[in-house]
Amino acid sequence: MPDIAINLKRISDEIRATCNRIGRDPGDITLIAVSKTKSSALVREAFDAGQRDLGESYVQEFLEKYSSDHLSGLPIRWHFIGHLQSNKVKDIVDKTYLIHSIDKLKTAEELSKLASRKNLTADYLIEVNTSGEATKFGLSPETLLLETSRLFTLPNIRLKGLMTIASPDRNKARKEFRLLGELLEKLRETSPDPSSLTELSMGMSQDFDIAIEEGATIIRIGTAIFGSR
Ligand SMILES: *Cc1c(COP(=O)(O)O)cnc(C)c1O
Repeated sequence: MPDIAINLKRISDEIRATCNRIGRDPGDITLIAVSKTKSSALVREAFDAGQRDLGESYVQEFLEKYSSDHLSGLPIRWHFIGHLQSNKVKDIVDKTYLIHSIDKLKTAEELSKLASRKNLTADYLIEVNTSGEATKFGLSPETLLLETSRLFTLPNIRLKGLMTIASPDRNKARKEFRLLGELLEKLRETSPDPSSLTELSMGMSQDFDIAIEEGATIIRIGTAIFGSR
């Protein structure tokens, strides 16, 4: 078995063990294999091992992999998880399964406009800067509810939930994951369509066990699958 298949197996075992410990259903958790900086040949190994949800962080790199010989045309659910400038939305709008990282009203408006033009509905998450670190993208917890009320009125986009990148410190990370869960609850109270607000995208190689304990429905794992970058 190639290493990647072994790594994927080990992570799914860990997901199952964590879920068993706290009484969650492992089927409620989607594992995204984050393949940034890794070759499309390597990503193909993950696909061949059964991995269908893949995550990319940079538009140009995503487009190269999307149309590469190793990966084009395969039934992959591509997740865009990196910072997205509004002028790049047009490049990915019809190629992604879920965009995790909308962090500005303007980007959501652009997504709505382009999705309308292409006659599709784009699913997305809002990125929240739960740690308050200046280097991180995302809406602040304080402005989230206010800004989001405007998003609910835009056509052809569907908000599915929230995403965050936590602090490296595991104790801080737990608090930040918990905050994201609380924000999703509040958002449901103000949403015209609360039943579609189901996703908490949180947890990476170092902290996905904590994220699952705090309610993650999507975890994004790179290093523990593909090795260090
Ligand atoms: C790179 C990246 C990941 C994966 O991080 P690892 O620590 O390698 O598991 C997850 N989420 C985002 C947004 C990333 O950019």
